[in-house]
This record gives sequence, C-alpha cells and structure tokens, in this order.
Amino acid sequence: MSSKMFPPLVIPFFIPHHGCPQRCTFCNQTAITGRAEGNIPDSLEIAATVESYLATKGGKRGEAQVAFFGGSFSGLPDALQEKLLGAVAPFLADGRVAGIRISTRPDYLDPDRISFLKERGVTLVELGVQSLDDAVLARCGRGHTSTDSLKAISLLQAGGVRVGVQLMVGLPGEKTGRLLAGARVLAGMQPELARLYPALVLKGSRLAGDYLTDRYQPLGLTKAVALCARLREIFTTQGVRVVRIGLQETDGLTGEILAGPHHPAFGELVLSWNLHRRLRKLLAGSGNEPRRLVIASGDQSVLRGPSNYFLEALRRKGLLERVNVIFDSGQPRGEAKLVGVAENCQK
Ligand code: SF4
Repeated sequence: MSSKMFPPLVIPFFIPHHGCPQRCTFCNQTAITGRAEGNIPDSLEIAATVESYLATKGGKRGEAQVAFFGGSFSGLPDALQEKLLGAVAPFLADGRVAGIRISTRPDYLDPDRISFLKERGVTLVELGVQSLDDAVLARCGRGHTSTDSLKAISLLQAGGVRVGVQLMVGLPGEKTGRLLAGARVLAGMQPELARLYPALVLKGSRLAGDYLTDRYQPLGLTKAVALCARLREIFTTQGVRVVRIGLQETDGLTGEILAGPHHPAFGELVLSWNLHRRLRKLLAGSGNEPRRLVIASGDQSVLRGPSNYFLEALRRKGLLERVNVIFDSGQPRGEAKLVGVAENCQK
C-alpha cells in the first residue's frame, strides 16, 4: 500500500514562545507543549529525533514532515532559523523527509522571508490567525490585525507555500456573527488546512488574571462545541481540511487549565454534534417504515458520543423508532445512509 494513503508522519519540535515579541493574553505555550520556555532543540537533538522517528514510525505513516511549533518561527533571529532548518537539510536532501512545517505570526512574513523559508525546505506555514475581528485581536494583545492575516495568506499562496490557519472560539469580546463571518472569509481563501481551538484559561496566562477578576468569562463546553461545529462545517463545505479541533492532550495539560471548555475528546464531540444535527434532519423526514441507518464502523463512538449521550438523544426524540442502526466497515467514514431513502448524510 502506498505511504501516500496514510496521513503524514509529523515529527514535532516545540519552540515555546520563541520569536514572539509579546505574550498574547490567552497564551501559555509552556503549559500546552510541556516544554520549558528556554528549551530550544539544538542540531544534534533534531537529527537524533528525526532518525528515531523515521526508524520507529517511518514505515507505518505517509511522507515524513518536520514541524516547528509553539512559537513564531519567522520571528527568530536569522541565524537560528538557518540553524534549525539546516539541521533538517540532510534529511530533505536524501528524501527521507519531504518538507518542513512551521507556525508563526501573520505579521512576521513578507516576500523575502517567504523565499528564505521556501529555499530551506519549508512547504507549509501555519498562521496563528485566531480571529479576523480587530477588536478581539486588540483585546488579546496580539499585536497584529486581520489585514496582516489576510495579506500573509495571499503572500504565502503567491509564493507557492501551503497555508494552514489556526482559529479560536471564545476569545474576549468575540461576537458569534463576526466569528462566523471571519471563518467564511478564511475558508474562501482556500488554505490547505485549518485548526480550531476553544479558548481556555491557562494558569500563568494574562487571561487567568482577567478570569479571576471577573473581566473574562470562558465559553461553556456545549457552546464551544456548537461553535466549533459551525466553523468546521464552514471550512469543510469549502473543501478545507480541519485537521485538529481542540488542544492535543499532553501530560499535565489538565492541571494547567484554570477554567474553560476543556474535554479530552473535544474534537470528537464536535464531530458528534455535526453528525447528529444532520441525522436529526434525515431521520425526521424519513417516515415510519422500518429503516436501516448505516454508519461507518469507525464512526461508532462519534455516533454514540460520551456515555451514549448523542445516541440516547435521538432515541428520546423518537427518531430511532423502527430504525435499525448498522455499523458497516464498507461505509465511508463521515457518511450515513438510510436504506430505503435515497439520501446520503455527509458529516
Ligand atoms: S504569537 Fe502565538 S506563541 Fe506567541 S504569545 Fe501569541 S499565541 Fe503564544
């Protein structure tokens, strides 16, 4: 089977806060990544880690990509960018690594910087857009505007570098209408991928101070899931892959969260929300004849939700009466089929 059929093997390196000129109110990368702030990998560590990943996981995944996350890579001193990218160069040269991903601020890119990165193997840049509402960006102390984000996306695309966008829900001052409008603009620009994160109150962040003094109230879990579900629909409808929803669980992450809509399976809750919204429509209009609802085997937990919550909700509404739910490995993931009714349900 071709390795291209598998998701890429991403070999991550974290550079918490490095390259950032300031600290955004919601941010505590040390808490998220579990890496101490002063700790930046050196060339030997990079080479050894890449070798180790390739040896232990290389054959089981798609093409290998090295990623520098957790800070603003293009804000690092030039010499440090050269050194980090140079440590990956031998693997690019022998073809064992296909490309490099970085994350950075939207205002730290211009055509020269993009050429610099591209010439050294960077193939995908993830932009911390977070919001396209300038009032929200200002309240979060981001230090850049929505115009910077839109310009960075256009420059990267014009320079032949793939783009990822990171967007948050529940930031201070956020208005739902403006959040959704911003997502539509971003999706319309056709980035390659998107990541969605609910704003959490992390210990040690400035948002923690605002929360403790009643100047900020995080979203509840249900509202955060519902908003992320709407954003996911906006991106996927435009053909943009949403590759992550919610923070990756790391050792000790839960202990770093003071408040906010954290759930270890947040992304799956969002998938369940979207699937059930569509299933409710599909089942409600399907009559009373006996029917079979065919769901992909891989979507069993998405259909059920935590403690069967979502499945029971369908039952309580009477939508599963005379409906036999079948899990079928031949059914594509993310789709559901009601046999006898000529309609497909895309997740
Ligand atoms: S730019 Fe990103 S990494 Fe830097 S402080 Fe802001 S959120 Fe954190």
